[in-house]
Amino acid sequence: MFLTISTTGDQERPATDLGFLLHKHPERAQTFSTSHGTAHVLYPEASAERCTAALLLEVDPVALVRRGKGKGKGRGGAPDSALAQYVNDRPYAASSLLAVALAKVFKTALHGVCQAMPERAAAPLPLRVEVPALPARGGADLVRALFGPLGWDTVEAEPVALDAEFPQWGDSRYVRLVLEGELRLADALNHLYVLLPVLDDAKHYWVAPDEVDKLLRAGDGWLAGHPERKLITARYLSRRWGLAREATERLELVRLAEAEGLDVDDVDNAVDESTDTEERPVPLAEQRREAILRALEAAGAARVLDLGCGQGQLVQALLKDPRYTEIVGVDVSVRALTVAARRLRLDRMGERQAARVRLVQGSLAYTDKRLIGYDAAVLSEVIEHLDLPRLPALEYAVFGSARPRTVLVTTPNVEYNVRWETLPAGHVRHGDHRFEWTREEFRAWAAAVAERHGYEVGFTPVGPDDPEVGPPTQMAVFTRTDETSKEAAA
Ligand code: SAH
Repeated sequence: MFLTISTTGDQERPATDLGFLLHKHPERAQTFSTSHGTAHVLYPEASAERCTAALLLEVDPVALVRRGKGKGKGRGGAPDSALAQYVNDRPYAASSLLAVALAKVFKTALHGVCQAMPERAAAPLPLRVEVPALPARGGADLVRALFGPLGWDTVEAEPVALDAEFPQWGDSRYVRLVLEGELRLADALNHLYVLLPVLDDAKHYWVAPDEVDKLLRAGDGWLAGHPERKLITARYLSRRWGLAREATERLELVRLAEAEGLDVDDVDNAVDESTDTEERPVPLAEQRREAILRALEAAGAARVLDLGCGQGQLVQALLKDPRYTEIVGVDVSVRALTVAARRLRLDRMGERQAARVRLVQGSLAYTDKRLIGYDAAVLSEVIEHLDLPRLPALEYAVFGSARPRTVLVTTPNVEYNVRWETLPAGHVRHGDHRFEWTREEFRAWAAAVAERHGYEVGFTPVGPDDPEVGPPTQMAVFTRTDETSKEAAA
């Protein structure tokens, strides 16, 4: 059971860089134990011109049967017959097990990380992937339908005859797969990681609830828009319809956001106006967080929504303060939420801490019952990421439907842009900002929103309040008027 990944190069960009990108040295054969057997990585060829890495999985059929008995299930949910346990194609065919091994052995490469050569990891390279015997329920046509839309120049899927000497017996359910194209290595690995088990359609390990997260993470950037996303999702999750529905709905959010032109990937640098300016002593992002924390404290909030939480910096700050008993970070971007979960070390958090915080995927352009009933909601540097015509939808979702007592909204003050030394005149601060408002424009919007939904609104400058152009960030603090009148009566 094996696959090979090859690339080509020259003296300047040697093909052997593949070894760095895969974090596996071309001159050493390496062995890893996985739950289903032993995986080997070796390089049949390694020169500056051509380099091929092979991943080989030696499956332990006994371990497989034992595992299968305890937790797995037969194909389509039918119990494995006694014979099927021992006459098993698993050891020979590339399959879901190979994908599991791939994820284990090439974990870092799968995430697109390469400290030695970050720019090589981020750039497409000429790749050739071959899987000599790929079990494919649905045959060569399905293989082409699955890999076809993913940017490969060549998708070759050749049915393997049952027996080469007796062609009249027809084809087996295996195909020889060859993929060729200029892709990022991480993308290629993620395609294989998701689609090998999808084609195999017989998972031999338990599908845990976090498989949905794994699928969305591996499918980041290509699955939401894939024409076969429903089939991929259903099969990947072994037809667990509850999970498949959840995955489909979440993918739909991403697809809609992408269709609206939101660059959901582009969150990495969404906050850092400050790093390349004279702001250095206290970066603006930090001043903004401080201002938000002060306003939440003044409002006496304990249960807080961070809407468009991005990579979770504010959620992290809120967690440090015990007055916040429930913190929910919401974002449409799977990638941002993944980074946030890592930052918060959600998987290693103690039970008490973990009970206080949740990260959920959702789009603010739609009403969402999960957001009802909180003390406060924060929209920090989020509204400017929506197209103006979508803003009323966000307004309704937050002020009309969720209706927390307090809403904090921050957004850049465009008047201040002349003060950023590095910003060319007339440019917005971040490529994904759909608009940036003057103080006047922001105030007018906020006052109208407050009026429409029964809130009062006040404004706080964030950052140095320039006498001429105002502060770099403007913040509106909305308070529901039924609350302010209660206070007045008390
Ligand atoms: N609040 C964070 C991040 C701001 S960047 C901070 O202050 O640092 C804007 C964030 O809004 C991004 O993470 C983006 O994915 C998210 N976003 C944009 N449109 C959204 C939508 N319609 N629904 C939910 N989140 C959205």
